[in-house]
Amino acid sequence: MIDIRGLQTFSLIDYPGKISCIVFTGGCNFRCPFCHNPCLVFDPSSQPRVTEPQFFHFLESRKRRLDGVVISGGEPTLHDGLPGFAARIRGEGFLVKLDTNGSRPEVLERMLNESLVNAFGIDYKAPAAKYAELTNVDDPELPVRVRRSIGLAAASGLELDVRTTVHRSLLSPEDLARMHGELKESGVKRWVLQQYNPVEVIDDELSCQPTYSDGELIRIAESLGPDVHVRGLTGRILNLKS
Ligand code: SF4
Repeated sequence: MIDIRGLQTFSLIDYPGKISCIVFTGGCNFRCPFCHNPCLVFDPSSQPRVTEPQFFHFLESRKRRLDGVVISGGEPTLHDGLPGFAARIRGEGFLVKLDTNGSRPEVLERMLNESLVNAFGIDYKAPAAKYAELTNVDDPELPVRVRRSIGLAAASGLELDVRTTVHRSLLSPEDLARMHGELKESGVKRWVLQQYNPVEVIDDELSCQPTYSDGELIRIAESLGPDVHVRGLTGRILNLKS
């Protein structure tokens, strides 16, 4: 069983190059200050539940209209039913993209071994030394586990979207340079900096504090290298080097 607390029936941007729907699972083991899904994190039961039979009934109606399903959250890998859920989606003929905070590499490993996933979206929240601060999880092993997840996904050859939400008060240009080096060591070939979105977030103070302008973020990405891209407020990928 997997606890589905939201379903977006159509997306053109969340699974690049594919037409997808998005399943939002309830609960998360992180408390990122910039999280824009606080209901799913703190109180998933406040959101209407979508049962698996309801979801698969919906999916049946979307055959030949959707390419795949993005499993997002919250944090999907916390749910023991995730591999079985993904297997059933694959069995119905749809692709699966897993969006994860990377904290449970053993789940990614299993899903890779069993061919249950076709693409990954993995957040890299902070340089390893600041991971506890930006996730509010006091576990020195956490950045090791996240980098292991990213390394597994990179080595798999599957499509991998590694992304970081950037706010000036949380990540300095020096932090971003450090992260870039850490990601390169993990085999990442492409990294996306996501502009902070001032909607409802866990730490309301963030939206009152100045962050990088789009121009500043673009300049930071350019200074880091051709493998660093910016995703704007619209969700559009700006390839700055082509
Ligand atoms: S941003 Fe993602 S990992 Fe962080 S608290 Fe929200 S759902 Fe969890």
